[in-house]
Amino acid sequence: MTLTDVKKNFGKTRALQGVSLTIEQGEIVVLLGLSGSGKSTLLRHFDGLETPTSGSVEVLGEDVSALRGKPLRQLRSRVGFIFQQFELVGSLSVLENVLTGALARLTGPRLGLPTYPAALRSTAFDLLEEVGLGAQAFQRADTLSGGQQQRVAIARALMQDPEILLADEPVASLDPESSEQVMNLIREIGMKRNLTVICSLHQVELALSWADRIVGLRHGQVVLDTPSAGLSKQQVMEVYGRVATSTS
Ligand code: ATP
Ligand code: MG
Repeated sequence: MTLTDVKKNFGKTRALQGVSLTIEQGEIVVLLGLSGSGKSTLLRHFDGLETPTSGSVEVLGEDVSALRGKPLRQLRSRVGFIFQQFELVGSLSVLENVLTGALARLTGPRLGLPTYPAALRSTAFDLLEEVGLGAQAFQRADTLSGGQQQRVAIARALMQDPEILLADEPVASLDPESSEQVMNLIREIGMKRNLTVICSLHQVELALSWADRIVGLRHGQVVLDTPSAGLSKQQVMEVYGRVATSTS
């Protein structure tokens, strides 16, 4: 996917100020940057949740700004998204939450509750096994730990068999141990399926050990774009320091 000179304004706020970036299929990328630097806004451009004020966004061969209605929905169904707060429906079972990930793939009139074909239910079970929650399928989602809930959200995102997985601060509300487990799972799943994975993170060390490539944002601009391989921790901290501590 390629962003070319993407600018995004919200009123007077210039959230993105000319971002150009090419990310190849299968890359595992972390977006680093201070609060307000534009990480979420950038991520949301990758699945058409936002359209640029100017510049262009090409995702999976499509010009996202030109898409409306069904073609946009089709593109969005090829992109999975996971969020900091998991966004599960707490009163539904774990299995039902995973199944909602397939709603975009169900066709026909939608009156009342969706009925899920057996094949989708079986896919959902397989995905729950894959994220280590096969035994919790019929538990209410709100009875799970945070780390487990994020695993459910990952399984839900995989229901649409995406080619791209976007994650916005997926472990920001988890303890360090669960964070590492969830990040390992995301990487494992991404590599197994050759997904492009783009993840915003606050934890620098985790980012460095986890990503193949680090993109640093400051005030809506890319100020760092480098492979993480070969960087020493100290170099990395210095690099991040420039991203994180500059107030200019
Ligand atoms: P955080 O680490 O706190 O999540 P971020 O790097 O994800 O921050 P964004 O959420 O992308 O930053 O925000 C970038 C800028 O754009 C901020 O100044 C924010 O207030 C502004 N912004 C983002 N979305 C909107 C919106 N829908 N309406 C108005 N302003 C917005
Ligand atoms: Mg954000």
